[in-house]
This record gives sequence, structure tokens and C-alpha cells, in this order.
Amino acid sequence: VEEKRRLTFFILARIVVVSLFLVSTAILRINEPESIGEWSFSSVQHLIIVTYLFSLVTLAVLRFSNRFLLSLAYLQIIWDLLFVTVLLLLTGGIGSPFSFLYLLSIVSSSVLLARREAIYTASLCGILYGAILDFQFYGMLAPLGLTQAVAHQYGASYIFYTIFVNIVAFYLTAFLTGYLSERARRSEQALEKKEIDYEELSRLQSAIVAGMNSGLITVTPEGNVRVFNDYAQQLTGYTLEEAYDRPVGEIVPELADISLRASARGEIEIHSMTPDLRIFSYSVNPLPDAQGDCSGRIINFQDVTILKRMEERLKHADRLAAIGELSARMAHEIRNPLASISGSVQLIGQCANIERSDRKLLEIVVRETDRLNALITDFLAYARPQPPNKVRVFLREILLDVRSLAVSDPGFGKVEITIGCPENLLVQVDVDQMKQVMWNLLVNAADAIQVEGTIVLSAGTFMCADVILPGECVRITVSDTGAGMARDEIRHVFEPFFTTKPQGTGLGLATVYRIIAAHGGSISVESEKGLGTTFTIYLENSMNPTIVSEMRA
Ligand code: ADP
Ligand code: MG
Repeated sequence: VEEKRRLTFFILARIVVVSLFLVSTAILRINEPESIGEWSFSSVQHLIIVTYLFSLVTLAVLRFSNRFLLSLAYLQIIWDLLFVTVLLLLTGGIGSPFSFLYLLSIVSSSVLLARREAIYTASLCGILYGAILDFQFYGMLAPLGLTQAVAHQYGASYIFYTIFVNIVAFYLTAFLTGYLSERARRSEQALEKKEIDYEELSRLQSAIVAGMNSGLITVTPEGNVRVFNDYAQQLTGYTLEEAYDRPVGEIVPELADISLRASARGEIEIHSMTPDLRIFSYSVNPLPDAQGDCSGRIINFQDVTILKRMEERLKHADRLAAIGELSARMAHEIRNPLASISGSVQLIGQCANIERSDRKLLEIVVRETDRLNALITDFLAYARPQPPNKVRVFLREILLDVRSLAVSDPGFGKVEITIGCPENLLVQVDVDQMKQVMWNLLVNAADAIQVEGTIVLSAGTFMCADVILPGECVRITVSDTGAGMARDEIRHVFEPFFTTKPQGTGLGLATVYRIIAAHGGSISVESEKGLGTTFTIYLENSMNPTIVSEMRA
């Protein structure tokens, strides 16, 4: 492309030079007609017209093809040499003022070709020029109108001297311009290479910025947006064009404050970008310019909501485990003296000489120690759980079993229990433990329903985006229309010994939590004071795929 441009430029330049030459010759002829002969002027005109034609043809070839660049370049130089030679012959040979035009041919050959070609051209010029002068001197060009007499006026030594000086000038020009054009070419190449490197670098950089899995915004010292990567665009819903040069605060209000700080890092809650609240970790760093001064700031932010939730869940589970462990030890320590107390009191009770009222008191002691013992047994069952013995069962059967138990229990009074569960929904669980879970949840629901109400047990499969259980899983919900809970209560329901009931142990939900965790699932609760409560259990789906697709159908 570069070569082509150069060649085109050269041809255009020649057209201009030749035109100038034509015009100036014409003017000279009008002012002083005798200085140029009639015959030679019309020949010069012809020569120039042919040159025009030649230039136009080469331009046309150049336009439509890229193939013959080098040959075309050679052709130009040869044409130039011929042109100058013919011009010299037409304008008086030795007396012609145009011998300097050879120099132009040499210059153009070093520009169009290379240094070596320039030297060849210089040699050719020398030969042609020398030949013209010599032939004229020896009268061989008389038929062309170049008389020997003119040459003889100058004298032989002068002619040879002229030839010598011209040839030296030709070579000097060839060397100099060849050297210069070589240098120009080399620096051009270096520049081009650098440009390519730069381009590649900037392409790489923008690809990295665009593909980042976190938001990247750069701002001016005043806090106006400059760079706004894809992630930020998706998150905020603004395109780069919309965000460009606007204050950050208009795009993400929560970042307004941060964007003005020199450097900072931390976490921030952002409501404005997504429908739900999300937690972002961010960092702000100064953006240095070429001199190392601060020319703005880079803000980098990343959605860590899922991580945060996971962290919270882990902390919660950790706390439950620690409390469980500690209380299990305590319970164990209490049980031994309790057994001694109960045994001793029973022995005392067997004595014959005990008053009726005292016997009553002793019975209370025995009854209460029994109750305590039962509680502790319960508790140890919670705190030292058996690993689940998982089998494949139809979930619906478990739910039906638990319901029939509940229906016969007086505690469920006027409570209606409905079940919504696909018949072929298979789960892999420990049947007894799962019944215990459902029972505990049902009892709580019935307790929460004071007079009458309904409990809905429902189950199904769904695609789970949860971090703990990614993929398809089984969801079981237990909803009641009972009293519901306050926010404060919800936070503690799964903790052992948390109870709001006078006779409660606070172990029901703690046991549920343990069992579900041992099954590799998770449980959560939603509740609204006065409206009701829903417990949701997520379990891994262990069904075979045919049943899944059947069920979907
Ligand atoms: P307990 O039933 O012995 O109190 P649980 O662990 O089963 O212990 O329940 C803990 C507490 O959670 C209950 O005291 C109650 O305040 C609350 N709770 C549990 N389930 C429900 C529910 N379905 N509706 C309202 N509150 C509930
Ligand atoms: Mg309970």
C-alpha cells in the first residue's frame, strides 16, 4: 500500500512538473520566439503529450491492480531517463539547460526503488549524457539538428570537463539520496512495527477490561465517568455512551462518596442497581497519568452477596454446633446425679413410716426427675445425632404417615392438614428422621394455630440456584396460618432451647436443623406476625431422570 501510494504520488508529481515545463516553455516561446525553434517546440509538445498518456496509463494500471508495482516503478525510471534524453536532444544537446533533470530521475529512483538502483540509474545517466555530448562533438547527431559547430565552440576539454562534473554530481546524488531514502524507509518500518505493537496492546487491554468479571469504572478528579466496562454496563443498565462524563453519583448513587476518595477499599450495600439489595466489595485506587500525577481514580467493584450469605450461614451453623456440643456435655453431667436422686427418693418412698403428705412430695420429686430425664434423653438425641440411614422412598408416603399420626392427636384439634405432593416424587432420606422432622414442624404449626386453621404440606422438584445445593433439588414446605413470629424470633428459632412456650423445650427445630443438615440439605423460615409461617426444606434430588421427565410431563 505504501509502495503504491509512493508510486502514485511520483506519477502525479511528474505530471505537475511536466505541465509546468510545458507552460514555461510556451511562455518563453511567446516572448522570444527565436530562442526556441519551431520544429523543436512541437516535438517537445509531442514528447510531453506522450508522457501525459504514459502517466495516465500507469495510473490506471495502478488503480486496478496491485500486481506489477515493481515493474511499474522500473518503467517510470526508464521513461524518465528516455524523456530527459530526448528532451536534451530536442533542446540543443550540449547547449540545453535541462541536463539537471537527470538528477531528478536519480532522486526518484532512490525513492521508488533503493540505493543500489539509484547508483545504476546514475551510471545510466552518465552514459546517456556522455553519449549525447560525445556524439554531438563528433558530428553524429547532425541529422537531429544538433550541429557540431556549437560543440566545437566550447572545445573538447570543456565538454569532457562538463561530462566529468555531471557524472560526479550524478553519483553524489545517487549516494546521498539513496542513503537518505534508506534511512527514511527504515524508520518508517520501525514506526509501523511500533504502531502494530501499540494497537495490539490496546486491543489486549480493552479485551481484559471488557471481559472482567467485576465492574471497572474510571473517573476524572471531579468524579466524572471515563471508562465504564461491560460488567458495570450490565449491572447499571447504562451504556458507556450514556454514562460517559456524567458524575458517578448519577449512575450509582452509593458510589458517589467513594469515587471522591483518593484510595479506599471495603464493602458497600447497593440498592439502586438490582431489585434486591446486594453487597459489593470495592476498591478505589489513584489513576496516574504519564507524569505519574493523579489524573483520576479507578473504581473496581464486585458482587459478593452470595459469598456473604454463605459466610453468614457458615457462622450460624458453627454457632449451633458449638452450643450443641457444650450442652450435650452438660446434659450428660446432669443425668448421672439425676439418676442417683431418683433412685434414692424411690428407696425412701418404699419405707413404711412415711406420712401421706411427705409421700406426695416424694412422688413429685420422682415425677419431675423423670420429666427431666426425658428431656435430657431428647436433648442427647438432638446433640448426639445418629447418622441418617438413607433409603429411597416416596415422599408422599412419609407425609401421609405423619398426617395420620397428627389427626389422631388431640393437640391438633380443629387443624386441617392438606398435602400437595406428586405421587412418584422419590427422595433419599432416613425415614424415621424425616418423620421426626415433619412431626416437629407439624406440632409447632399446630401450637401456633390457636383456634382453627390449616397446615399445608407441599413438595416438588425445582431448579435450585442455591450455592449449597446447585442443580435440581426437592423442596418441601410446611405452611401454617398460625400466629407467626417477629423478626427477632425468626433469627433464633433453630437455636437449641429457644422457646416461647411455657412447656416448650426449644429443641424441636434444633433437631430438625440437625437432621436436615445431616442429609446434606438446608432449611429456612419465612414468617409474618399474625399471618403465618412457612418452613422450607431443600434436599438433594436423588431421583432417576426418567421419573423427573415423567413428572414434568
Ligand atoms: P418448642 O416448640 O419446644 O418451643 P421449637 O424449637 O420447636 O421449640 O420451636 C422454637 C420456637 O419457635 C417456638 O417456641 C416458637 O416460638 C417458634 N416457632 C416454631 N415454629 C413456629 C410456627 N410454625 N409458628 C410460630 N412460631 C413458631
Ligand atoms: Mg416444637
